[in-house]
Amino acid sequence: MSYQHQYVDGTRIHFPLGKVVCIGRNYAEHAKELDNPIPTEPLLFIKPGSCVVPAEGGFKIPTDRGSVHYEVEIAVLLGKSLSTRPTPEEVLDAISGYAPALDLTLRDLQAKLKEKGLPWELAKCFDGACVLPPFVSASSFEDTTAIPVRLTVNGEVRQDGSSAMMLNPIVPMIQHMAAQFSLQAGDVILTGTPAGVGPFIAGDEVVLELPGVSRFESRVL
Ligand code: ZN
Repeated sequence: MSYQHQYVDGTRIHFPLGKVVCIGRNYAEHAKELDNPIPTEPLLFIKPGSCVVPAEGGFKIPTDRGSVHYEVEIAVLLGKSLSTRPTPEEVLDAISGYAPALDLTLRDLQAKLKEKGLPWELAKCFDGACVLPPFVSASSFEDTTAIPVRLTVNGEVRQDGSSAMMLNPIVPMIQHMAAQFSLQAGDVILTGTPAGVGPFIAGDEVVLELPGVSRFESRVL
């Protein structure tokens, strides 16, 4: 199924899907559960637009490359370009919406790549590696430092976090990203995953939530 940005009410968002800029180890409890040190500066990586699939109707995972871990994350959709050193006001003005996304990761492969000091693309950029439900308009959120996010699998809450727990909060994180490379309308920021990551298997029933704001049901095909 091809992907097009849209809002929860079904309105299509007309700027094209760009890149997906991600931050690793942005929640201390998650860094700890994978035995990773907390980075001294933001750990950034990029997933290509080609890996994005809609959450609607379910999604496939690779079956021949070891474990596929879920990482639920607050996704931020940009509606304006940002570059050099944007102010906090410019960042807020550029945010179009928020969604509870999945950053899918081939965890066994990532562990091998990390061990060898190699880049993570093989573990993070496969087709289907970013599952995106529709966005809720940014106007529904008053405070970017208190957005909850939750993943439920087969009726059991597996991840339950909030932007309040981020080591790099959303606005300074995007300021930092834009200082490294240009961000464009249609780009998506994945803001890191809270603790509780684990493997998906085919048939898992998945609920992605920004609790109190939006809720999407999906499944692993
Ligand atoms: Zn992630």
